[in-house]
Amino acid sequence: MDLPGSHLIEIVYLAAGVLFILSLKWMSSPDTARRGVWAGEIGMLLAICGTLLHHGIVDYRWIAAGLVLGSIIGARLGQVQMTAVPQRTALSHAFGALCVTLVGTAEFYLRAPDVPGFTMAVLTLEVLLGSLTFTGSLMAAGKLQEILPQRPITYKGQNFVNLALLACAIGAAAMLSADPSQTYLFPGILAMGLAFGVLMVTPIGGADMPTVISLLNSYAGLSAAAMGFVLGNKLLIVAGALDGSSGFILSVIMSKAMNRSFTNVLFGAFGQVQTAGAAAGEAKPVRSATAEEAGSILSSAGKVVIVPGYGMAVAQAQHKVRELYDILVKQGVDVSFAIHPVAGRMPGHMNVLLAEADIPYDKLHDMDEVNPEFHQTDVALIIGANDVTNPAARTDPSSPIYGMPILDVDGARVVMVVKRGMSPGFAGIDNPLYYLDRTLMLFGDAKSFVGAIVRELSGGGHR
Ligand code: NDP
Repeated sequence: MDLPGSHLIEIVYLAAGVLFILSLKWMSSPDTARRGVWAGEIGMLLAICGTLLHHGIVDYRWIAAGLVLGSIIGARLGQVQMTAVPQRTALSHAFGALCVTLVGTAEFYLRAPDVPGFTMAVLTLEVLLGSLTFTGSLMAAGKLQEILPQRPITYKGQNFVNLALLACAIGAAAMLSADPSQTYLFPGILAMGLAFGVLMVTPIGGADMPTVISLLNSYAGLSAAAMGFVLGNKLLIVAGALDGSSGFILSVIMSKAMNRSFTNVLFGAFGQVQTAGAAAGEAKPVRSATAEEAGSILSSAGKVVIVPGYGMAVAQAQHKVRELYDILVKQGVDVSFAIHPVAGRMPGHMNVLLAEADIPYDKLHDMDEVNPEFHQTDVALIIGANDVTNPAARTDPSSPIYGMPILDVDGARVVMVVKRGMSPGFAGIDNPLYYLDRTLMLFGDAKSFVGAIVRELSGGGHR
């Protein structure tokens, strides 16, 4: 209908769509990222307001109840630790996908069988993608939170079973789209989607989970775009397509940074052989040093490259690292930071933490930029990073991470590694870097150990 109100809604939706696109553009650079977050939030607010203006709404009470409940859950979810953001993101995808699935199911039972073939095709696509994303995201969140076992759970013929189930679901969706009167097929499609989500994530190990979450993000976006076609809502199509494509691009970037292919992530059961690898390296000797020794090596260095990793995030050591940076710079040492694209547990994890500690952004260097510099580096100081510095990725074809691009820290004259013990990183494998002659292990919690070095350098350490 050509009501003035519907024009207003279209204009509001258009403004929201433009803001979503600008948001993604601005979030691609740290200088404009805050603006990008604001643009995304205002865009979402406009989208909600536009939807609330819809003349089809007859009763606002349920909406108000949903708004209150959603705000409470959202506020609670926003307060998790930075290290728990991947599982929090998986939960958000699960909620989004549940919403898409419920809306699709409601639309089906309201409209079927009088639905054109195309609408039925996108409706079944919406419900299939939504349901598998819902259970898949719950499984991913459970694995990352360690409520479910992190190890890949595999059995013979698993890929065949999973692919056969998916093929059956797609076949049933195709039959329903060809003949929308076959409504009895719908519950089966829904059930197969839910089951496939569980089975798809079961064989995937914890180390691959962030990539899987990014892929599920992409599925959630595509299912929302399909819902846009079903409801005739252009904003949902635009937002879903943006979400679907950006999630997919991020999964590709993450897979490349780990030198994994999608098929390998989805069917490779990465993480099974790795404990054996870690156990095999337990007996080898390493050289360790105290905070006092580390402090004197650092202060006599000309060039130091700090390599942060997941351990720095767990220990929340970024502010102590900032203090160390300040002291060394004051003493005339050239200090910079090497950032691996998958250091930590989510893309940009290290950048966010170091920005929080106000470390100058121009001191953060990407892997490609910093790798040639390690040969002119006096000290590579690794703080809670492990896998992203593992030379086995370069030298050992039998290693599960062989081929993954790493930071070439072993090129530095001295390598110092702050970590609590000899535990492996997320990939679960031993790191030959620790047994090199030029490597000194600085055993301790990252925050306390870096704090102790800072005290030594500022003259307050125990002699
Ligand atoms: P790792 O997980 O490889 O290693 C972290 C190290 O930190 C551990 O060896 C641990 O050793 C140490 N550590 C833990 N707690 C502390 C603490 N309180 N103080 C000091 N050290 C501590 O981390 P990286 O950042 O090197 O690598 C990231 C891993 O995550 C890679 O395998 C990557 O592929 C994977 N990954 C990352 C994604 C991303 O987007 N960032 C996405 C997908 C996967 P110890 O227990 O002995 O202290």
